[in-house]
Amino acid sequence: MIQSTMMDFPLTLNYLLDRAVQLFPRAEIVSRLPDRTLHRYTYVDFYQRARKLAESLQKAGLTRGDRVATLMWNHYAHLEAYFGIPAAGGVTHTLNLRLHPQDIAYIAKHAGDRFLIVDDILLPLVREVLAGVQFERIFVVSLTGEYPPNEFESYEDLLATATGHFDYPDLAENEAAAMCYTSGTTGRPKGVVYSHRAMVLHSFATSLADTFAFSQRDVVTPVVPMFHANGWGVPYSALMVGAKQVFPGPYLDPENLLDLFEKEQVTFAAGVPTIWLGIAQLLERQPQRFKLQSIRMAVGGAAVPEGLIRTFDHFNLQLIHAWGMTETTPTAAVSRLKRHMDTLPEDERYHIRAKQGVAVPFVEMRAVNEEEVILWDGKKMGELQVRGPWITGSYYGEEALQKNFTTDGWFRTGDVVTIDSEGYMKIVDRTKDLIKSGGEWISSVDLENALMDHPDVAEASVIGVAHPKWQERPIAAVVFKEGRQVSEEELRAHLTERFSKWWLPDAFVILAEIPRTSAGKFYKKALREQLQDWQWDE
Ligand code: AMP
Repeated sequence: MIQSTMMDFPLTLNYLLDRAVQLFPRAEIVSRLPDRTLHRYTYVDFYQRARKLAESLQKAGLTRGDRVATLMWNHYAHLEAYFGIPAAGGVTHTLNLRLHPQDIAYIAKHAGDRFLIVDDILLPLVREVLAGVQFERIFVVSLTGEYPPNEFESYEDLLATATGHFDYPDLAENEAAAMCYTSGTTGRPKGVVYSHRAMVLHSFATSLADTFAFSQRDVVTPVVPMFHANGWGVPYSALMVGAKQVFPGPYLDPENLLDLFEKEQVTFAAGVPTIWLGIAQLLERQPQRFKLQSIRMAVGGAAVPEGLIRTFDHFNLQLIHAWGMTETTPTAAVSRLKRHMDTLPEDERYHIRAKQGVAVPFVEMRAVNEEEVILWDGKKMGELQVRGPWITGSYYGEEALQKNFTTDGWFRTGDVVTIDSEGYMKIVDRTKDLIKSGGEWISSVDLENALMDHPDVAEASVIGVAHPKWQERPIAAVVFKEGRQVSEEELRAHLTERFSKWWLPDAFVILAEIPRTSAGKFYKKALREQLQDWQWDE
């Protein structure tokens, strides 16, 4: 054996921070404020404030590994927390502001959060959360310009305690930098702790040309909340490459987003399908209204309907389908066409782009069926298992949850997938969402995507409802586009083209909107509750 001659150089976020200011001091950070005006400053301003946050937190008593919670929308101060807290040796714990206050309190308590940084517009929520958990100190970011009420401290006052003389602690790359809880639609939320190393490697992998291709020339907008799986790592990668960053604040509606994309010349944005569905509808209604750059739009968190990819292509905007989880930091797979696929017929190319994609470098994927056979044929379904340097190996403080990991070291995702011979993974369902009818499986995801490909359908979600004869039968909840409506027969006929008869939903329920989870995904649990007493015709 020969020892390498390479230096032992830890992969830490502090390095990204220093590089950003050294090389890209003029890069901008733009944030939409509650009054809809834009706050802007440069990487230099950001750098100084992130370091002041680090120094002042240490002065406030923060020690290595202490959790500092954030309850914030996407904006400059959240970015300061993303980097300032780990720079001091702390752990940024992003709390999901869309959860019930009791759940937020449970999560903050479970994580042992010492301090909280919160937006002033979220103080009513904080007061409810405080019924279930205490923080040593609460620092309020004044987005409205108003000084916080007496019972809280000001974030600006905290920063003002810093002298500007600050040395990073000597961090090891495996120390914790951030923490996030799963959204908890099944069972209790579970905590995932990210190391500096995992975040840095994830930033590299997501910046690759075949992932999201981040460059210093980009203008990047995480529409996905920064409390949802690290804003998919976008703010970290953007800082690493020196890109301009644009944050939507609390305004995630299509009008405000498209306005922001146009004004700030956004070239990359990331969000769940429901965000892009809304944007596609506005663009279809008013195709001439917004003058957009060519934008790469990463979509993930839930399956993307193929028709949506086609719609955006029509507007010269590129949807990039990716897959990930809170447990996977999150980006683990992305669907890009391989070179030899350029000559495939158009329909086939769209089928591939609508799959969840191939594993990014250093993530390994396999599909395993009930007989423990590894599948790679694009047909047989199995559970998706993954491993890699930014895949969690356990849950925070939950020894009992080892059933989520295999004995040979893979994380069990709970997603049911096929993987084809080219390595493209396709999600068929969550284990719990698959519909079992007469002993055979029906994929709710395939049905809902086909329904959303109908030109008059805005949203669709399919669930299995208990049936006296067939165990379960699919029922589709459908939301029509504004001013449109079609009959049940037509919806059925639309599906008949693609599915065998026994797959077709037995009923179509027309809704004004599909219930959403805190991350903006369709919330099937709420739909199931709504439809649990469904009466089948004799
Ligand atoms: P979360 O940890 O909240 O991001 O949820 C992760 C889960 O979202 C995954 O296990 C999948 O079930 C689902 N998911 C993520 N990305 C996709 C995608 N591109 N298509 C379908 N489902 C997805």
